[in-house]
Amino acid sequence: METTKITEKIRRVEGTIAETCARAHREPGDIRLVVVTKSAEIEQIEEVIRLGFHHLGENRVQQLKKVAAQVAEFQQQHPDDPTLAREIHWHMVGHLQRNKVRLVLPVISLIHSVDTLRLAEEINNSAGPMGLAPRVLLQVNTSNEPQKYGVPIGAATHLAEQIETLPHLKLIGLMTMAPLTRNTDVIRTCFARARELFYEMRGEKIVGGQFTELSMGMSSDYEIAIEEGATILRIGSAIFA
Ligand SMILES: *Cc1c(COP(=O)(O)O)cnc(C)c1O
Repeated sequence: METTKITEKIRRVEGTIAETCARAHREPGDIRLVVVTKSAEIEQIEEVIRLGFHHLGENRVQQLKKVAAQVAEFQQQHPDDPTLAREIHWHMVGHLQRNKVRLVLPVISLIHSVDTLRLAEEINNSAGPMGLAPRVLLQVNTSNEPQKYGVPIGAATHLAEQIETLPHLKLIGLMTMAPLTRNTDVIRTCFARARELFYEMRGEKIVGGQFTELSMGMSSDYEIAIEEGATILRIGSAIFA
């Protein structure tokens, strides 16, 4: 098969993940790559799936629903194609409005962006009657930028305790975004704060044994994220741009 630009780019990202893991004494198998498809054509998404990537992410509910339906359709059109047979796990990585929760729950594998009790309660109250218990991450604002989504570091533990009481969702980790800057010290500080909070919550038994994921690192900063302990990377433009 001809090597396309997408194939080349995703292999390059995989190579960088492997090299960074070697440097950081980590196992590439402990890191999940979520391919963020928001800027991709459907043909490019198909190619990524054929290459064996089954965790895909979107930051808008409408777009996620649309692309998930398109992917399901071409999977159904090729029922005997083993490269398309695997279940796709959809990740909602962007801000989630409460009035969109019901729409997204039936298709979602992991919601990365829970940052208020009201949103967690909406997910819980919608998921119960649907017979679902979606997995969620608590999004933490580690950069102290006021316009950013995410619960402030100082309020995160209390919010996690409250979310833990809700029966119809599973809190399995933290998500954070570093600010857009060339200053790698600033980025590293954000990721290190998230990691410290992650271990603090586990150590103080605020969360259970299912609390294992640290979602951080995008196209421009995923090497730093790996060095600081990320278990989930969310990468789009390094593959599609
Ligand atoms: C778009 C997006 C990403 C991927 O960003 P890239 O810089 O394209 O890799 C990751 N996380 C969130 C929340 C996003 O909206």
